[in-house]
Amino acid sequence: MPIRRNLTTLSDDDLDACVQAILALKAAGEYDEFVTAHATATMRTPQQAHMSPMFLPWHRQFVRAFELALGPSFALPYWDWAADQALPDPTKGKIWDDDFMGGEGDPVTTGPFRQGQWTLAGGGPLVRAFGSPPMTLPSAADVDAALAVNVYDAPPWNDVAMAAMGYESFRNQLEGWLLKPTQAFQPQLHNRVHVWVGGSMDNMETSPNDPVFFLHHANIDRIWSRWQAMHPTSGYLPAAGVPGVSAGDVMWPWDVAGSVVTPDDVLSTNLLGYVYDSEIQRSATAGGPHGDAFDDSTTIEFIPAIINSVSATWNTVITSLSTNYKYDGPAPHGTPVSDHSGSVTVPPHQTIQAITVYTHKDHDKTGVAALSIEVSGQPAQLLGPAQTTAGQRFAAPPGTYIAGFVGRASNRIYSLGVVALPMQQGF
Ligand code: ZN
Ligand code: ZN
Repeated sequence: MPIRRNLTTLSDDDLDACVQAILALKAAGEYDEFVTAHATATMRTPQQAHMSPMFLPWHRQFVRAFELALGPSFALPYWDWAADQALPDPTKGKIWDDDFMGGEGDPVTTGPFRQGQWTLAGGGPLVRAFGSPPMTLPSAADVDAALAVNVYDAPPWNDVAMAAMGYESFRNQLEGWLLKPTQAFQPQLHNRVHVWVGGSMDNMETSPNDPVFFLHHANIDRIWSRWQAMHPTSGYLPAAGVPGVSAGDVMWPWDVAGSVVTPDDVLSTNLLGYVYDSEIQRSATAGGPHGDAFDDSTTIEFIPAIINSVSATWNTVITSLSTNYKYDGPAPHGTPVSDHSGSVTVPPHQTIQAITVYTHKDHDKTGVAALSIEVSGQPAQLLGPAQTTAGQRFAAPPGTYIAGFVGRASNRIYSLGVVALPMQQGF
């Protein structure tokens, strides 16, 4: 599963691959279709993409469609602008390097999207004007304040000053229209980043003309995903009864019969097929068999959205051992699979909390196994060989479920760790 990573953690090669994928999409004429779709959506009635509860699901679907257009397993990086806000000079963040997004200017004259290399849909060069009019990027405290709001949205379901009306709305606070009674209105959070980058980004209709749009919105989506994990009982609102923006209403342009998309369809990033690096929690109990802590230098990494089945096979070198294992979770709870190989099927919409690896008591020692997991719509993928010890239990911390394994090479023997993801709505 694609892992969306903080762009500051990407290698130069990965950053370049992102640039090249965007340039290829532009050359194919598909990039501008995203700009046009965003502009058209912005001008439609009722408002769905902006000033609406659908702001977050609409952009989640939009950014995911863009990511898939870049490549079936491509992972967009995200721009954590709140971290850049704390830099001595936020205009010198890694995102603006000459070999990534380039810098500011009217027109932009540095980087891969400079004048002559990148023409906006509708014509003209890219323009950026950092921090103008004078303002800062949103801070980590601003993000935390939004995350603390535990109601997704509230009447009148638009951009008005809900705080002054006694309502709370996570969506409106994150989108950035919220007028706090104690301060003069300024664009906040999402909106503030558009204004801070300025130029092409400061245009509500055509802001996707600047590729930074997608890195910004990946971060907005990440914040929403984090909020969902923090407030597991706070669902999308309105649930029903508000025409055009309720949980089961179709979001334009995904209104083609048979493949419509509603907010209800996009509540889980895992079901959409991606995950954020900040959501991957490696639990203390899920290290390698020798208690190794897993680090990011993995050689196998595969994080499925939902594990549909688990199977184990012993390496034929160790034929005297047999194994079984089980998963702890909803029925069939603890179903063991025994003797050399086998698999268990996870019921639909169920998740795995723990997997225990066993060996026969008389061979209670370390063995080498290969674990594989199968995900809906994908072939089983081998994740081993894995070195495991008898009775070893891979457990997910409370509130999380096992979504996959991370392998790490050590002396040519792979060890496995469990990747635990936060429980999300929809499970
Ligand atoms: Zn937008
Ligand atoms: Zn935006």
